[in-house]
Amino acid sequence: MISLDRIHKSYGSLQVLKSISLAVTAGERVVLCGPSGSGKSTLIRCINGLETRTSGQILVNGHELHPNCENIADLNGEVGMVFQQFNLFPHLTVLQNLMLAPRIVRKLSREETRARALRLLERVKIADKADAYPGQLSGGQQQRVAIARALCMQPKVMLFDEPTSALDPEMVKEVLDVMTDLAREGMTMIVVTHEMGFARTVADRVIFMDGGVIVEEDAPASFFARPKHPRTKEFLRQVY
Ligand code: ADP
Ligand code: MG
Repeated sequence: MISLDRIHKSYGSLQVLKSISLAVTAGERVVLCGPSGSGKSTLIRCINGLETRTSGQILVNGHELHPNCENIADLNGEVGMVFQQFNLFPHLTVLQNLMLAPRIVRKLSREETRARALRLLERVKIADKADAYPGQLSGGQQQRVAIARALCMQPKVMLFDEPTSALDPEMVKEVLDVMTDLAREGMTMIVVTHEMGFARTVADRVIFMDGGVIVEEDAPASFFARPKHPRTKEFLRQVY
């Protein structure tokens, strides 16, 4: 579903990604973790064209994403993204937030889009807030809306960038529960998170990045029980 081949990314003289190669198969759930500044956000932002890479090849569901991302529209909707800060449109209602991209990008009818949006709001258990504005919702509710909004484009892959890091602790579970349901339904997911409980129970594979490289990757059971690299051990000591 996703293939990254020797991705490099620099900001000026700062090398942020150093030859990252990664293949994610359909239905696979990958958790990406690592210290702040290790390049996690940059990596997943490259996959949906929010950042351009310096070199390397990216394939999403068989489509090559051109180096300057000018053909991102060809992949649009194949890759959904959820951000730490929700990034909902504040001047649109919840329902309008969900309907915007399918209407404009996919040119779906109002009726069809509305029905799909309402089904998704049911699924993330927030249908009663369809006509509310984001500012009237809690952080956990906003993040569930953001997930529903991404799903409204019927993506083949979902990318999550620290989706629970901006939430009050009591709201983390409601968002992780929605993500866990999505994983059970077979969605291909790459999740940047420090929620190691989620990684343990949901991930097929955990990848640890540091300094712009993949230091270690393994199935969660062995990743947590027998981390091999000293930097992985140090990281796990800090997040537990
Ligand atoms: P992470 O998500 O793992 O915390 P990031 O991918 O956000 O790491 O950042 C990796 C490195 O790239 C950091 O050193 C960060 O300061 C730098 N960086 C990120 N975005 C930019 C940018 N737009 N311009 C310059 N440097 C950036
Ligand atoms: Mg980040």
